[in-house]
Amino acid sequence: IQWEKQVRNSAQIHRSGGMSVLVTGAAGFVGTHVSLALKKRGDGVVGLDNFNNYYDPSLKRARNSLLNGHGVLVVEGDLNDAKLLAKLFDVVAFTHVMHLAAQAGVRYAMENPNSYVHSNIAGLVSLLEVCKSANPQPAIVWASSSSVYGLNDKAPFSESDRTDQPASLYAATKKAGEEITHTYNHIYGLSITGLRFFTVYGPWGRPDMAYFSFTRNILQGKPITIYRGKNRADLARDFTYIDDIVKGCLGSLDTSGKSTGSGGKKKGNAPYRIFNLGNTSPVKVPVLVNILESHLKVKAKRKIIDMPGNGDVPFTHANISHAQREFGYKPTTDLQTGLKKFVRWYLSYYGYNNRKGLQ
Ligand code: NAD
Repeated sequence: IQWEKQVRNSAQIHRSGGMSVLVTGAAGFVGTHVSLALKKRGDGVVGLDNFNNYYDPSLKRARNSLLNGHGVLVVEGDLNDAKLLAKLFDVVAFTHVMHLAAQAGVRYAMENPNSYVHSNIAGLVSLLEVCKSANPQPAIVWASSSSVYGLNDKAPFSESDRTDQPASLYAATKKAGEEITHTYNHIYGLSITGLRFFTVYGPWGRPDMAYFSFTRNILQGKPITIYRGKNRADLARDFTYIDDIVKGCLGSLDTSGKSTGSGGKKKGNAPYRIFNLGNTSPVKVPVLVNILESHLKVKAKRKIIDMPGNGDVPFTHANISHAQREFGYKPTTDLQTGLKKFVRWYLSYYGYNNRKGLQ
């Protein structure tokens, strides 16, 4: 009873026309920021996260404390726990699901393939099964990935471009997720929006990503490994600042429309949409390192090696005109500015602020 009350409180809507959103992966990087933004504008938010140890769980716990402080409850549990999901939908008639829980990272898949199947395939189906049977059915917005473009070398990437050459198991499970959600859309009338995020960075970010681990190593005086592609070409990424991604997530939730089924039955045509959420200006990885050096006021020890064939793609570059048209998506933070905000957060979070020579 106490648990139900906490869930209901967290799901409480504080604006007219607001939504009640189940955010999966709420203790994750993107999930934390999206949950806070929804809560701030008066929507009801309940989080779900299994707090797994893919990266430092204490960072997830710290994000959780931040969320709790803003009135967001994160229920600890796994996507594959169908009973728990059903219980959540019994307590709250969620209007929307923001599905961000996943096994992320491309290199980790070499040693842990099953973890991708567990979260990104089985977990996704488990969630869709509960949503399909819910009454009313929630509209679903979920995180796909720019990695679905794989080895496609025609840039910038548009949503209709080929996605048949995934370069990692991670990318393959995201591509599979697009097919699976499409199936639930046309069979059961679930409203589905897939967002292809392009390398998201910012405060509270993910320690397994290059900008984060480079910062850590530079501050600790350790070498950083920079990959080089074919013909010694630098890798480049369309780095997208978290606040821009959050705006894209909220914009897509607001325009997601209604599901048209209930109790597992389809009634009419529900929308199925896919959007790139990127920054439209790829930056070479060595340039990213230069910017970090200037913000940290410390020189990096660079180790440049040829990219091992392990899932990385040479470059990413988003065409965002579809999201621009549908909900006015327009990224406004350049890498220089965004990394400054990240570095400021990093120094404060890890207690570097009193060290001389660092801003
Ligand atoms: P993240 O790892 O910080 O967040 C994911 C969260 O989901 C974690 O807190 C994790 O504990 C939780 N989780 C994983 N499997 C779960 C399960 N089976 N049940 C319950 N919880 C589970 O990652 P992020 O960077 O915040 O990414 C959010 C989403 O965006 C993911 O789907 C990711 O694949 C996608 N994405 C991220 C990026 C990026 O650059 N950050 C780029 C493209 C796509």
